[in-house]
Amino acid sequence: TALVLGGNVSNHFEVIVIGSGPAGYVCAIRCAQLGLSTALIERNTDAGDKPVLGGTCLNVGCIPSKALLDSSQRYADTKHHLAEHGIGIDDVTLNIPEMMARKEKIVSQLTGGVAGLLKHNKITVLSGAGQLLAGRQVELTDAQGQVALYSADNVVLASGSEPVEIPPAPIDDDRVVDSTGALCFDTVPARLGVIGAGVIGLELGSVWARLGADVVMLEAMEQFLPAMDEQIAKESAKIFAKQGLDIRLGARVTGVEVSPEQVTVAYSVEGAEHTEVFDRLIVAVGRRPRTEKLFSGDSGVSVDERGFVFVNEHCATEAPGVWAIGDIVRGPMLAHKGSEEGVMVAERIHGKAAQLNYEVVPSIIYTHPEVAAVGKNEQELKAEGVDYKVGTFPFAAIGRAQAAGETDGLVKILADADSDQILGAHVVGPSAADLVQQIVIAMEMASSTEDLQLMVFGHPTMSEAVHEAALAVDARAIHMVNRPQR
Ligand code: FAD
Ligand code: NAD
Repeated sequence: TALVLGGNVSNHFEVIVIGSGPAGYVCAIRCAQLGLSTALIERNTDAGDKPVLGGTCLNVGCIPSKALLDSSQRYADTKHHLAEHGIGIDDVTLNIPEMMARKEKIVSQLTGGVAGLLKHNKITVLSGAGQLLAGRQVELTDAQGQVALYSADNVVLASGSEPVEIPPAPIDDDRVVDSTGALCFDTVPARLGVIGAGVIGLELGSVWARLGADVVMLEAMEQFLPAMDEQIAKESAKIFAKQGLDIRLGARVTGVEVSPEQVTVAYSVEGAEHTEVFDRLIVAVGRRPRTEKLFSGDSGVSVDERGFVFVNEHCATEAPGVWAIGDIVRGPMLAHKGSEEGVMVAERIHGKAAQLNYEVVPSIIYTHPEVAAVGKNEQELKAEGVDYKVGTFPFAAIGRAQAAGETDGLVKILADADSDQILGAHVVGPSAADLVQQIVIAMEMASSTEDLQLMVFGHPTMSEAVHEAALAVDARAIHMVNRPQR
């Protein structure tokens, strides 16, 4: 049953990784680099029964969503923003099948790249569903139902997550879809409903809005993006409203009725009942860890109260030699967080005291402009009673942002009032992800805002907003009037 891309067919390995998403395949590669005999189990297969590698991220997550975000942004720019540059185009057309084919090509290039890397690193890829049994035995059931038994010195669980479903809106993969369905509509819906104005709702809602859909988002919470810095969330809401995203907060969906052509959604806001009729409905209300049939009751592995596999700060489970990484364990469900956990676990299996600095994991929403953050936000610092300083700087006062016509948004930096150490950074605006990454580097090196103040930033760049925000922390920004920021 084993499909071997490299390595030997044996029943015992030093490491068996279950799940080939960004957590699992990165862990397997690092293990192999360290000289450990490694097998990677993946249950997803294509029509030809070959394993489909790369998990959610490569197949139905980060990569295809970013491909469509990029395509749709080009369309919206061409249609709406070229005239202001003095460029006229008479006839802008849209070919959704071609856009989807481009996305699929990118996905298959990247998943093929992962297969190549695994082969090169002599990792044995086993096709089928893996289940951990007691004593680090792993049972593999292939697509035909055949069962084989393997064993390992170390087992790494990396089975990822799946979308949460809500009773009023069951997914039918036609009118009512989850994120996977929303990545492959064959036409632009005239009216698109989205339940949940979180990361997926905002990204995929933006894709279809840019392509011409009328988008209404129904969000249960009263507050928009409650995990973000409040000031940045408020600014983002204003920007998205300007783009035509209709976000209704405090909306409780009570029922969904599907007809062959339409979907009618009943919801209430502050007790008042409403209905909306859409062509399609995306349900994006969060994801949950995928642990069904992943381990037997006597394997020694347990889950916490929210269903995540219980691990310590080094991703070790309670069972000796069994580790868990990525979306199935606590912390943000982000590809880069899982990958770095994979590297840490590989290093620890190899005997090194590796650690992961969870304080500086960046998070990004790939809207236009992007929203990005690292470290603590202002409300968290207030709640923790930390004495902090704050510096903000608007993109409207940045030359490069003016030149690019990207003047919405701001950079915000938070620092300890006493030591001046940077505690967090929050950006909505052009290149927010890359600007926050600069602060990730600074925070990892325990920098102060003074370090950033003393650095030379190229001109004209968006990065100058980071420099000015760091200067603003001490009321010494140059290109704005410094006013008290707290
Ligand atoms: P997964 O990627 O889910 O991979 C788990 C793999 O394990 C799957 O291939 C699955 O088939 C396999 N598996 C499960 N059970 C078994 C078993 N018993 N036996 C064998 N194989 C098994 N994150 C970002 O950081 N940036 C983004 O821009 C981003 N965009 C996203 C967009 C969308 C639409 C979605 C849905 C998610 C996005 N994410 C993003 C989140 C990101 O995809 C996940 O955090 C990441 O994929 C988790 O990695 P993982 O390896 O833990 O699990
Ligand atoms: P999310 O937690 O970001 O957002 C879900 C939203 O749905 C929340 O605002 C929540 O209040 C709302 N909600 C929950 N139940 C509801 C209900 N019954 N009615 C209306 N609203 C409801 O989750 P998501 O957008 O589904 O994304 C899942 C995970 O995938 C994210 O947590 C993130 O970790 C990951 N992801 C990351 C990226 C990225 O890094 N750019 C992109 C996509 C997904």
